[in-house]
Amino acid sequence: MTIKSIALVAHDHKKSTLIDWALSNKTLLETLTVYATGTTGKLLEESLSLDVQRLMSGPLGGDLQLGAKIAEGKIDLLIFFWDPLEPMPHDPDIKALLRIAAVWNIPLACNQASADYIIHSKLIHEDYQPSKPDFSQYLDRVVV
Ligand code: PGA
Repeated sequence: MTIKSIALVAHDHKKSTLIDWALSNKTLLETLTVYATGTTGKLLEESLSLDVQRLMSGPLGGDLQLGAKIAEGKIDLLIFFWDPLEPMPHDPDIKALLRIAAVWNIPLACNQASADYIIHSKLIHEDYQPSKPDFSQYLDRVVV
């Protein structure tokens, strides 16, 4: 399997959806390194008895910690059930997490349907490697 690590995050009104999704996919999750923001991770541990690498709570920096791990190549897949109906105090952090997932071309699901499609994709069980972006031109640019 090409996916070795996964990050799970859910905003408060989406946490029960994520826990149900995780329960449905527990067998697979048990084979992966699971990262999660603080409260999401605590619920995953309690509900699934899953071994979770818990970071800080999202609004306290957990989203940014996940973003840093994505930039370091430590997370292969991000499942982020964010709440489109609630304003969030850490909106810039949420945007940063979504942005860095796009920068590093990691698969990202923001709702249950997308998460289902990704997790049941045959590519997950094949020798498929998402292309790693080449930023050499950007890094070599001349800045005056
Ligand atoms: P939480 O953070 O899992 O600590 O609630 C989620 C978030 O708001 O990003």
